[in-house]
Amino acid sequence: MTKSDIGVQKALRGVAVSPGIVIGKARLVDRSKVKIFYQYLIGDDQLSREVERFEEATRTTEEQLNTIKNGMPEQLKGHAFILDSHLMIIKDSMLYDATIHRILKEKINAEWALKKSLEEIRSAFIQVDDEYISNRVNDVENVVERILRNLSGDEQESLSHINERVIIVAHELSPGDTSELNTSKVMGFITDVGGRTSHAAIIAQALQIPVVVGLESATQLVGEGDLLIVDGNSGEVVINPDDDVIIEYQEKHLRHEKYKSSIARISHLPAVSLDGHPIVVKANMEFLEEVTAAREHGSEGIGLYRTEFLYLKSKELPTEEELFQDYREVAEIIAPEPVTIRTLDLGADKFASGYEIDREANPALGLRAIRFCLKEPEIFKRQLRAILRASHYGNVQLMFPMISGLQELLDAKEMMGQVKDDLDRENIEYDRSIKLGIMIEVPSAVIMAETLANHVDFFSIGTNDLIQYALAVDRVNEQLAYMYQPFHPALIQMIRQVVNAARDAGISVSVCGEMAGDPFCVCILLSLGINELSMNARAIPIIKKIIRTISIKEARADFEDIMRLSTAKEVREHVSNRMKTLVPELAEKGYLEGWDYL
Ligand code: PEP
Ligand code: MG
Repeated sequence: MTKSDIGVQKALRGVAVSPGIVIGKARLVDRSKVKIFYQYLIGDDQLSREVERFEEATRTTEEQLNTIKNGMPEQLKGHAFILDSHLMIIKDSMLYDATIHRILKEKINAEWALKKSLEEIRSAFIQVDDEYISNRVNDVENVVERILRNLSGDEQESLSHINERVIIVAHELSPGDTSELNTSKVMGFITDVGGRTSHAAIIAQALQIPVVVGLESATQLVGEGDLLIVDGNSGEVVINPDDDVIIEYQEKHLRHEKYKSSIARISHLPAVSLDGHPIVVKANMEFLEEVTAAREHGSEGIGLYRTEFLYLKSKELPTEEELFQDYREVAEIIAPEPVTIRTLDLGADKFASGYEIDREANPALGLRAIRFCLKEPEIFKRQLRAILRASHYGNVQLMFPMISGLQELLDAKEMMGQVKDDLDRENIEYDRSIKLGIMIEVPSAVIMAETLANHVDFFSIGTNDLIQYALAVDRVNEQLAYMYQPFHPALIQMIRQVVNAARDAGISVSVCGEMAGDPFCVCILLSLGINELSMNARAIPIIKKIIRTISIKEARADFEDIMRLSTAKEVREHVSNRMKTLVPELAEKGYLEGWDYL
């Protein structure tokens, strides 16, 4: 379809990044990149003038970003760090110094030099197939775009002037654009590109307007003034909907609003089941800025702090001091609640930019996580030192990923012992009774769980990897997505085995993979005896609601049959049926539809 099919209903599907449903008129905004810029050589006598021109454009860019930041509405203040990171990018040596150096050395104009610096940054990160990294490269592109515009004197329309009730349709929006939106007018937005963890998406969530990104061709298919439905729960966008479809979405909208108010009321209540079993609900996080969101969603601590991102984000490996400051800050913010810091899980789909790693035929089975750390003791010990030092400032627990057997655990513990000795010698304080746990995410660790339990304080089941390794299904291979089955009976039996081993050894056990935040899986986990869950912060309210609605005793009785089922399909059906009796309120009101976007 093209824009010429005026009035014809058309449905698109993209990535839902900010929940809610809106129906309104489309407003197309042109966020196309600066297309034309000249490349020319600069005479020696003009070089300093060219550098000044570049410096002036960066100063203007700084001023613009500061103006946006200072004008941010109250609900976005907690996200000012995104604009701060853009401000830092302007002066990053890979961009700023490198561009000036190019102007002077290659004698080329500022635009050309800046583009070359951008290309170099892109190619440094291109090998890393990671959504987080590609989003950070995207941040650099946004900043470069702004500087280029300022160099060309070609100002872009500010979105702060939009004061009609519209839904914005753009190829892409930068965090600066999103921060400027007047949300009493702008009802939502959709874009052709973007992913779930892009900064624009994070800001949209804070603005609490529905957003769908990654629609690929929205700007080509939507015409100015077209009626749009944006479903930020499911990722659906309907262009020029029929009356029936409008009514259907109005009903969905009402259900969502009711859901939001019922969820908000309970997210800070304790997660205690109807029959009085307290369940600990914690959040997973990847970077420092998420701590606040975890708190706001009612988490009782951080059950999994994935620490890879400080290693992925810059060309150099982070220093002990940088790591320590980051961990300390998280520990202090979340105290007295605990934070479980997981040691590096590099390898597989995450590579440190400051470290050359050989190409492997099967990276997921390769030099990953604890294996990498044991092979690189200096990198590992630096991180252990930072975590231990941070433990003095809060309630820190330490966890090793991907343990596949006892020897590996003993080797890792020995290194930790050496680090503790060093700290003792240097009179550096740390929590001497820091709890140590391991992730159970490799089938051999499940089988050895009884033995492993004698050497640690807790287990945390990483179902994301456990499914991958137990079912031999690459977790990032979309072609095999249908085989990646949390309801596979083998997996359920494995979880039961780990829970039993932990119980017999008297240590605690939690689940921190995606299953923990899945309403359909959570009842199984609770019925198996799991009483601690760690999940994406956004899932906390609905999971708490489910916990508060069910009786664990009844769940156990309901799920007793599960062990006898032999296929994932049977288990899935069994669970869906049981959910209707266990949590009728949620099932009937349709709150469980598209739950993963709520
Ligand atoms: C897991 O494997 O379930 C897990 C929580 O770790 P990650 O997703 O970081 O591998
Ligand atoms: Mg894992």
